[in-house]
Parts: sequence; structure tokens; C-alpha cells
Amino acid sequence: MTRRRLFGITAGTAATLAVTGAPAAAQGAGTPARRSPEGATELDAEGAWRKLAEGNRRFVTGRQVHPHESLRWRESLVQGQHPFAVVLGCADSRVPPELVFDHGLGDLFTIRSAGEVLDTSVLGSVEYAVEHLAVPLVVVLGHAKCGAVSAAVDVVRGRTQVYGDVSALVRSIEPAVLATPADADDARFLAAAVNNQAKRVAALAVERSVTLRTAVQHHGVKVIAASYQLDTGEVTRLT
Ligand SMILES: [Zn+2]
Repeated sequence: MTRRRLFGITAGTAATLAVTGAPAAAQGAGTPARRSPEGATELDAEGAWRKLAEGNRRFVTGRQVHPHESLRWRESLVQGQHPFAVVLGCADSRVPPELVFDHGLGDLFTIRSAGEVLDTSVLGSVEYAVEHLAVPLVVVLGHAKCGAVSAAVDVVRGRTQVYGDVSALVRSIEPAVLATPADADDARFLAAAVNNQAKRVAALAVERSVTLRTAVQHHGVKVIAASYQLDTGEVTRLT
């Protein structure tokens, strides 16, 4: 059964709801309804992950196809977007999701903040993609040698201080650092803290958002964590 049929909402209804921004309302008792706009991906969460993994394999091996960058494709997107995955990644310039996963315009709903830190704007953006664009998969993408996580490690260990809004950023990464088992090897500790941060953000997003929780519990949406290696270009799924 396709997701659209499963959710049983017509394109017209979906468009109206999207414009008005009304909550997924027609929920009532039982399984809440979920809108599925015309043209939304028919992939389920695992299908979306396979597509990302295939793109990453092309990237790792230098066999990118750089899809969906043509003039014609660009023009086809004027009427709307139908991304198949949300990628919540770090703002680090070395980890642009479209390149890492070898995808193009309209494919990924990308949200980036240093350390993949979750705040209300970031979470609202994820909710928008899942709720209004019917995206089936959310990937929280951490990466090796993350400067934001590294700063949080240094602050926790009293090696440095941070100021301004950076301190808020670092504070929100600290719980992941504190939950990382001690390791005499700094590089190994940082790698473990990076993975912890991605996993923690994925879990927190579902915990904090009723919209995401409903999508996960009733509509097969998955929120997973993954990690990117700067040297090999490889993305590894963590959850
Ligand atoms: Zn980073």
C-alpha cells in the first residue's frame, strides 16, 4: 500500500491544509491522519535510507552522477518540492549533505547548525518537512573532528571558555559529552562524543516533538543518527 493511499488524503485537501497551516487535525480517535501532498515521495524510511546510502557510495568511490542539477529539472521544481529525506547536519563546510549523498535540487530537506544542535527553529523545520512535505526519513548527521563538539569537550574539561551565543551552542552539546565514557585517547573520546551527540539529537527530536512522535509511531517515519568520516567520505548509520 502506498503512503498516499495509507494516509487517505487527497491532493486538494493536502494543499489546503498546507496553506492554512492547520494542525493534522482531522485526527480524532485512532490513528492520526497524515497529509501526503501530490508528488510526495513514495519511498518509505528504509527506501529513503538506501537511496542516501547509494549516493554516499558514489561519493566515496568518486563515481558521483550529480543528479538533479539540470536547467529542466530546476524549472520543474518551481511548482513545489518533494524531498525524500531530511538531513539535519553540522554547519561545518566540509560536510554539505547534497555533495556527501550525491543528490541535487529538491532531493534533500537540509537543516544545518553547528553540532546539529536542536533548538525550536531547527525542530520546527524538521516538523515542517515531515508534516507538510511527507518526508519519511530524518537523518541527524554528525561528523568526525566536529569543532562544536570538540569545543564542548574542552569546556567540560575546563580547558577553554566560550562567549556570546556560542556558549549556548556548547551548553546544549555538553550532555552528550558528559554521557561519553572516559577515554585516555582524546581523538577516540571526541569520535565517541560526536556519535553520542548525533544519537542524542535524534532521540531528543522525537521526545520533544508531538508531530515527530506521531509520525514515528503511526506513519513509519524514522529519525536516525549517522556519522560522516572526513577522510573516506563515508557515512555510517548509527541507529
Ligand atoms: Zn561539526
